[in-house]
Amino acid sequence: MLKITDPNFTDVMTLYGLDVWYYHAKLCSCVGENNGVPDSSDNCEMGYRYNPREQIRLTRTGTDKKTLNMPAGQIPDGAIVLSLPKYWKKKLQNAWITAAHGDVFSLIGKSQISTDILRYGVRDKVFAFDIQEILSVTVKNTTFIQGTDYILQDRTITWTEDGNKPDDGAAYCVEFLCNRQYIIYDKDAFDRGGEGDDLPRKINAVIRQYVNPDSNPIDAVDTKEYL
Ligand SMILES: [Zn+2]
Repeated sequence: MLKITDPNFTDVMTLYGLDVWYYHAKLCSCVGENNGVPDSSDNCEMGYRYNPREQIRLTRTGTDKKTLNMPAGQIPDGAIVLSLPKYWKKKLQNAWITAAHGDVFSLIGKSQISTDILRYGVRDKVFAFDIQEILSVTVKNTTFIQGTDYILQDRTITWTEDGNKPDDGAAYCVEFLCNRQYIIYDKDAFDRGGEGDDLPRKINAVIRQYVNPDSNPIDAVDTKEYL
């Protein structure tokens, strides 16, 4: 594991820094109206609404010992520790100030294959950011054809008038290639100095899952994908 001390942090950032799209999350009001649980019929993303992306630079300073208890035993959940410097190339990185639970970091140039379960006419939007390519759209063993049955618009599967489509409200599976992305579950706010300090912030993040909020998120953890 890489150990980083502050004096050499700029060198580390230059050599090992990651260019990242940063998506700041705001908690959606549906959470307050639904006993603290995101309302899956709302069009937010598991209780969050995201700002447009900003490019930042940060570095990975370690892995986290967070594990999941699974029938097969304890397995790592893909948690990582990130260091986010206040300035990069003499420019203030807003994320240093705003980074909080729910924010997403999407790694530029690093890919993962993932799946999401959507519901025709209810949620046709994939939660993953920075989708590079749709690999398949299926209902059980029926495969829909991109360009004929549907097209991808931003992050939304848009079904064509004349093509085949799932039944109203039916679940369908989307497999896609996207940037590898992490969601903040904890941040140690300014723990390495006072609030006026310019030191990097330490952030704990975990691989973002694109689960149907109706299902158990633990079932969908992909332990094969690491930074
Ligand atoms: Zn909502």
